[in-house]
Parts: sequence; C-alpha cells; structure tokens
Amino acid sequence: MKKIIIVGGGAAGMMAALTAAVNDNEIIIIEKNEKLGKKLFITGKGRCNVTNSCDLDQLFSNIMTNPKFMYSAFKSFDNRKLMDFFEEGGLRLKTERGGRVFPASDRSSDVIKNLESRLKAAGVRIMLNTRVRSLITEDGCFKGVVCQGTADKKMKELCADALIIATGGISYPSCGACPDGYELAGSIGHKIVSPLQGLVPFNIKGNECREMMGLTLKNVSVYVKKGDKKLCEEFGEMLFTHFGISGPVVLTLSMKLDRELLNDNMGLTAGIDLKPALDEETLDKRLIREFEKSPNRQLSNVCESLMPKALVPVCLSHAGLDGEQPVNGIDKKKRRKLLRTIKGLEFELVSLRGFSEAIITRGGINVKEINPKTMESRLCKNIYFAGEVMDVDALTGGFNLQIAWSSGMVAGKAAGEV
Ligand SMILES: Cc1cc2nc3c(=O)[nH]c(=O)nc-3n(C[C@H](O)[C@H](O)[C@H](O)COP(=O)(O)OP(=O)(O)OC[C@H]3O[C@@H](n4cnc5c(N)ncnc54)[C@H](O)[C@@H]3O)c2cc1C
Repeated sequence: MKKIIIVGGGAAGMMAALTAAVNDNEIIIIEKNEKLGKKLFITGKGRCNVTNSCDLDQLFSNIMTNPKFMYSAFKSFDNRKLMDFFEEGGLRLKTERGGRVFPASDRSSDVIKNLESRLKAAGVRIMLNTRVRSLITEDGCFKGVVCQGTADKKMKELCADALIIATGGISYPSCGACPDGYELAGSIGHKIVSPLQGLVPFNIKGNECREMMGLTLKNVSVYVKKGDKKLCEEFGEMLFTHFGISGPVVLTLSMKLDRELLNDNMGLTAGIDLKPALDEETLDKRLIREFEKSPNRQLSNVCESLMPKALVPVCLSHAGLDGEQPVNGIDKKKRRKLLRTIKGLEFELVSLRGFSEAIITRGGINVKEINPKTMESRLCKNIYFAGEVMDVDALTGGFNLQIAWSSGMVAGKAAGEV
C-alpha cells in the first residue's frame, strides 16, 4: 500500500488517480480550484472532444512535439482503450466528422461527472482549494509536498510515497492554469522548454482585418511565409477578427511554425489563397469570362461574384486597382494583379495572441528528463509527470486530451505499483 499525491485535478490528474487507485493505495488529488476539471468543462466548446477515433499512425502524426516520447504511453493506452474506458464506465460516446469523439450527450459536464463518480467509488480523496507550493525531497527521492489553502493561506506539509505532477500548461489562466508545475519541476532540477502559445490566433498589422471582422472564409488555403519562402500552408476555414485572423486553419498554422520564428516573428506574412482549387491559368480564364459577361460593370461589382463582398475593397486595394473602373478597362497587366491577389491576399503577421486565448501551451517540462515508459522523473525518484505540463502537444481533434489521458494512465499505473 502506498500513499500517492496527485497535483492537479484536470484530465491527466483524474486519469492518473483512477489508475493509481489499486493495491489499497491511498490516493489524494490536490486541486487549487474549487472543483475538478475546470478546463475540461470548456473543452470542445462545452462538448469535450475527448479523443479521436483515428488509427495509431494518425494519432502519432497529429502530435506536433515529441511524438516519440508518447510511443509507450499510446501503446499501453491508446484512443481505442480510452473509448472503451469511458463506454464501459457508463459514458456513451459518439464520433463525428474527422474522427472527433464526444460524449453522446454533447455535455463536457458528463465526462467530468463520470470521472468524479469513479474517483469516489475508488476512494480517492480530493482536496479542493488547495495549492501545492513546494516539494520535499531527500537524497534525490520524493518525500512530500507543502501545500496552501487558497482561502485561509494556511501552509501544510503532506508526506507521501509518490507524487504525480499533472498541473497542465499556462494557457487559459481563467481555468486555473499557472506555471506552478514548471516551478515545482524546476525546483528538483528539471529543465523547462520555454512556454509558447499553441493553437492560437494571429495578430495582424493594420485595421483591415477589423473592417472584415466576423467574416468567415471556407475552403481557402492559408499560408505563412518568411520573405519569399512559404513555411507552411493549411486548407480549410478561417475567420477575420478585430485583431487579425483566427479559425481552425490559423490555429493549426500556429503549431506548424518553428518556435524560433515566433519568438521573433518580424518578417512573417500570412497569405490567403481565396481560390485554392483553381490554378492561375484556370482562374485567369474565369476572370476573362466574368469580365466579358458584363464589360461595362464596375470592377468591384464583378469581384463580388468571385469573393465575399466585405473582402472586395481590401482585395482591390492590395492589388492597387480602382473598384469603380469598368471591367472593359482592365488590361492583362491589371488582371494579373487581381489574379495574384486572389491567389495570395497577404497581411503582415505581428504576433501570436496571448496565453489567455491559446488553446494549449507549447513547451513545458523537457521530456528528455522523464522516463517515457513510466513518466517518472529521471532526476528524482517517485516523482511522475502527466499531461500538458510536459513538452508534448498536438493539433486539434481530441489529441491533446489523449496525451493527458495516456500519460496520466501510465504515470498512475507506475506510481501505483507496489
Ligand atoms: C478552450 C479550450 C478548448 C479545448 N478543447 C479541447 C478539446 O476539445 N479536445 C482536446 O483534446 N483538447 C482540448 N483542449 C486542450 C485540453 O483541454 C488540455 O490539453 C488538457 O485539459 C490538459 O489536461 P491536463 O490535465 O494536463 O491539464 P489541466 O486540464 O489544465 O489541469 C491541470 C490542473 O492543475 C491545477 N493546478 C495547477 N497548479 C496547481 C497547484 N500548484 N496545486 C494544485 N493544483 C494545481 C489547475 O488548477 C488545473 O485544474 C482545449 C483547451 C482549451 C483551453
């Protein structure tokens, strides 16, 4: 029988607790919020995209940072096993477009309720409104934690045989996210890969995006370039906002850019190909056809048949064309300018939005110092890690939660062994 403390009552912490609750182990979750799973509650727009039903290869290809580190964890507890875990535990699931798996009820609260009732059944003790402030170690071995009540500020020491740090990343501080996990790990010598906003929108220079705020573009291709070099490109849906650009494609792009470029993102351009299905030649023919159909119409009017109205003035201004000009006055050179702009409406990318809007945190505890088979620290015995606190991240689609479930399961199992 062991006493095991888990810091953080999110997805990773709850899964770790349930798995460690064997062999008569005494399990305590310490959570600084007033309830468990506060971030889980807002996932998937309140529906909680628990995982993805894809095959193992796809699972790995959606992990952006350190997929190899997750190999053992996914081998022992992959997305299929997670789905069984919930279904067999009484939570019905459904799979939607792109393999995204949700609770059948569409309620993230049902995922949390399911986990809570299982924690209760397993006899896991839950200390809410309590924050772990520091670790007690002796000769490179875990001994206990110092925690503090968030209301009364009283400090208390708790001894235990093992600790699982599942404190998450630092994005969405409104859900309790904070750098405590990095500080706790840092105190025993772990290196932290500096945190960076992930799955996050972009700030764009100037006011043009603000003018198109609310406009969603579907089936476009968005790319990011530095100078003339295209760095990455994604096809799908994007959205203009008061600060710049957002939407699924933009969030994905934010994960595909090297962190060095984002720390100093001067010189990055975001471009939108408004007609990705048409090559330049086909698009040119289409423009000629549109122009010939109504030669006396104003260019801006004709453009409205090619793109959403709100986009027309911006597109024409980028092309350096006068929208009031009749199309019969548009020569080949001008038509070329328009075509080029439709294939690449470009904006200067200023920065990423802040952590308060980032779905996940890139960076975290360097995985080189964690044993991937057990999630145990290589620097301090009996300390384990799970979830987003580690330098592992993924694209949208349920993959980030799968990282939390799988690593939580592995950490809980290893810590719980007697
Ligand atoms: C808006 C939004 C939507 C998302 N949607 C999805 C989705 O649909 N699918 C998906 O796969 N991923 C989604 N994610 C990402 C996913 O929520 C996270 O990757 C996942 O919750 C990480 O789980 P975790 O257990 O590692 O951390 P968290 O869920 O962040 O839990 C960490 C917990 O630790 C607690 N804590 C921190 N420090 C201390 C301390 N010192 N003492 C005590 N407690 C502490 C925190 O209060 C927190 O409750 C979304 C994220 C956001 C922000």
